Amino acid sequence: MEYGYDLIVVGGGVLGTFHAYHALKHGFKVALIEKDRTPQGATVRNFGQVVPSGMNSKWQTYGRESLRIYKEIQETFDISVRQEGSVYFASDEEEEQLLEELYQINQENQYSSQLLTKAKCMERYGGLRKDYVKAGLFFPEEVMVEPRVMINRLHCYLKAVGLDLFLHKTVIECNKLSEGIEVYLSDGTTLTSAKVIICNGSDFKTLYPQLFNESDLKVSKIQMMQTKPQGHFVLPSSILTGLSIRRYEAFSECPSYAAIKAKEDADSPVKKWGVHILFKQAMNGSVIIGDSHEYADADHIDDLNMDLKMDIDNFILQEAKKIIDLPTYEIQNRWFGLYSQCKTSDIYQHTIKNDIHIVTGIGGKGMTGSAGFAKENINNIFNLQHA
Ligand SMILES: Cc1cc2nc3c(=O)[nH]c(=O)nc-3n(C[C@H](O)[C@H](O)[C@H](O)COP(=O)(O)OP(=O)(O)OC[C@H]3O[C@@H](n4cnc5c(N)ncnc54)[C@H](O)[C@@H]3O)c2cc1C
Repeated sequence: MEYGYDLIVVGGGVLGTFHAYHALKHGFKVALIEKDRTPQGATVRNFGQVVPSGMNSKWQTYGRESLRIYKEIQETFDISVRQEGSVYFASDEEEEQLLEELYQINQENQYSSQLLTKAKCMERYGGLRKDYVKAGLFFPEEVMVEPRVMINRLHCYLKAVGLDLFLHKTVIECNKLSEGIEVYLSDGTTLTSAKVIICNGSDFKTLYPQLFNESDLKVSKIQMMQTKPQGHFVLPSSILTGLSIRRYEAFSECPSYAAIKAKEDADSPVKKWGVHILFKQAMNGSVIIGDSHEYADADHIDDLNMDLKMDIDNFILQEAKKIIDLPTYEIQNRWFGLYSQCKTSDIYQHTIKNDIHIVTGIGGKGMTGSAGFAKENINNIFNLQHA
């Protein structure tokens, strides 16, 4: 049978788009179908921090490959990648200890990082509060992107190298035939393909709702803010702080981590709202500040109240002001994003009748891990030699 495509990817977020990217690199005929006119999901609502340093060893490997891929694309097509590095600031001796241990782990992994003294942190990062920072750990290879720009430019780039991109079309059903798959779109079009990969993010109501309702997927709601532009003030690097050191998976591989976590107050607002403080300066000079985490199971996504909770925003700002004196903390935008993740594994993968592959639940690591992970996953799905 002749199929219209070798691969149809459902979902034009970062995970689906990088699956399309790698399939195109292998010379396949690929269609990417996105239900909105431009993606509206987690991929355009995040910080745009590409931080393999925060991942466990497995996902650091994917993240490091993603760094290489982002930089390679940026060399030929501007997708808003900036290599400004990432820095973690410790606020007490426990966090400083974890930075030193992570530095050792990265030495062994041959991943470049530099320990920074308090004085060096103060010298490099204007506005950083002397009464907050004890030490820093800097990752020079890491990049940031402008999420709302990156994905649309990546789509343009892929179209130029042969992708068929269908925007504002929802895939409403996939039907496996004796050979190949029919894919039905909301406008009445039917496409055919040898394989389908579904990267639906946190949309669990359109395709296979029963499967998702019975899965161990949950959804995280994250509140974010953006200040007004900061004039001439420059905040280089992605900034991650003490609470991120206490939260990110990379640090769970440090010898002292378990003992340090055991001492934390389980009833604090930090724990109640899943808060850690991150800063990233956007290209227009504003600073993006976040974030918090509230959870619901996949079949109870509607329980995540769609309002922004001002108590959470006020707490994030109160903590942020203890870390960096920005020229202005006047907020010009507030939003939330949703991402899906599994309770028991690092990503959700389910295959239907050999050729329909669902891949979602990448959690809070999608901007960092997707490009590298999708490369390996395309090799697995098409039984290709691993490069
Ligand atoms: C606030 C926030 C901050 C974050 N910060 C970072 C960060 O700094 N660094 C990092 O690495 N990660 C970060 N993340 C995580 C990252 O954004 C996600 O892991 C990633 O965007 C998930 O990508 P995705 O493609 O799986 O999902 P999505 O971006 O949600 O994309 C799924 C797409 O599928 C489409 N779709 C669904 N069903 C259909 C259908 N039936 N037909 C057609 N289209 C369909 C949707 O419209 C959507 O565009 C953050 C997330 C949030 C929410």
